[in-house]
Amino acid sequence: MIFRQLFEPTASAYTYLVGCLQTGQAALIDPVIESVERDLDAIYALGLTLACTVETHIHADHVTGAGRLRALSGSKAGFPAASGAEFVDFTIAEGQPLRIGELQLRPFYTPGHTDDHHVYVLESQDTARVFTGDALLIEGCGRTDFQNGDAATLYRSVHDKIFALGDDTLVYPAHDYNQRHVSSVGQEKARNPRLGGGTTIEEFVEIMAGLDLPRPKKMDVAVPANRACGEVSQRLAASD
Ligand code: FE
Repeated sequence: MIFRQLFEPTASAYTYLVGCLQTGQAALIDPVIESVERDLDAIYALGLTLACTVETHIHADHVTGAGRLRALSGSKAGFPAASGAEFVDFTIAEGQPLRIGELQLRPFYTPGHTDDHHVYVLESQDTARVFTGDALLIEGCGRTDFQNGDAATLYRSVHDKIFALGDDTLVYPAHDYNQRHVSSVGQEKARNPRLGGGTTIEEFVEIMAGLDLPRPKKMDVAVPANRACGEVSQRLAASD
């Protein structure tokens, strides 16, 4: 298996490249529109073909590269069925594994940050990885105050779906703002100040209710664009 963690600095966002050595098929998880050329260069330099792009959820802070990558490379754009996104090539739901050549990406429904959020588990040889989107960040988590987010729901998603994975499962989040790259389920269970270390659901709900975060700058453009595979419409672009 080929695996790369790619970083997009304006949104501090991670995109993940997963490639099958046997078939040359590759997938990108959470591509960002500003970095599609960089991502394709990486794929072609490895001798791979981009089969598909996969979203963890409808992002509010950046625009997906799914539509542009499709136009440039012919890749298929996959979004959670729960997102209601338009112009998608396939939809994603828990219990329906995605095939990337001989690799399997297993989706788990993890609402709470948004109501469409999924994480993806990838097992290869003796390493298990979970791509946690914004459900679980390294010593943090995504906010729960818009896009039908709900703190109690996120707590249950993380505890029931992510913390139920093996402790040595590597945790790869959609963002990190402090140059951290990877964690593990065991480390987050022990150290995550919001969700680990025995924090109760009531304590977590209180923490999230007290964050008082500003509205994401790009939200009014990013959310509608992402519901259309990243196509920023003329009307929205004109209102910038
Ligand atoms: Fe998000």
